[in-house]
Amino acid sequence: MSQPAIQDQECPDCGAQLDLSQAEAVGDLVDCPNCGAAFELVALAPFTLAPFVDEEK
Ligand SMILES: [Zn+2]
Repeated sequence: MSQPAIQDQECPDCGAQLDLSQAEAVGDLVDCPNCGAAFELVALAPFTLAPFVDEEK
């Protein structure tokens, strides 16, 4: 099985390695395992994450 080449991505807030296996399609969310920040996958080429703002706690 071939996996798409996905760059390693670090949390811009705390620098922790993000688990990109959660993000397979545009619109998927990735949670930082360290600080809990959420990021939305907005593009696959290039692989781009944008901060996801959770309006309600
Ligand atoms: Zn973080």
